[in-house]
Amino acid sequence: MADPDCIFCKIVAGELPATIVDEDERTIAFMDIAPATRGHALVIPRRHARDLLEIGAEDLQAAILGAQRLAGRARERLAADGVDLLNACGAAAWQTVFHFHIHVIPRYEGDPLRLPWTPGAGGGADDIAAAAAALHAGS
Ligand code: AMP
Ligand code: ZN
Repeated sequence: MADPDCIFCKIVAGELPATIVDEDERTIAFMDIAPATRGHALVIPRRHARDLLEIGAEDLQAAILGAQRLAGRARERLAADGVDLLNACGAAAWQTVFHFHIHVIPRYEGDPLRLPWTPGAGGGADDIAAAAAALHAGS
């Protein structure tokens, strides 16, 4: 179940230190070691899953609920003005640790984060329609 080479599995097992801020039967949440903003935390399933496409439905549900709990606390206790959730699935999508995790990133008015895409760079109306046809559940 655990991957012996996975640093997040080692955190789950207590073999690597982490500052845990939330846990339940299926998940733990701990502070990101290199925070993007004050309060940046990661929610992970206890059971190893590589990414969004591999994680089981119950663990995914538990992880998103954990992210919701932390988002609420960031608003209430850190006075965050907003919260971003981020999940990177695959190296091309910036994933660097291959144990599923949801970043919970508190946002503050005037913080240094910037939108990581240029609106519209993914194509025009024809591209949208072609991608939609490929993505449609009925395809
Ligand atoms: P990602 O690039 O989406 O895979 O995110 C991996 C995140 O894990 C990064 O934000 C790292 O700062 C964070 N990270 C890596 N190692 C640790 C660690 N030992 N404890 C806490 N956070 C970590
Ligand atoms: Zn793991």
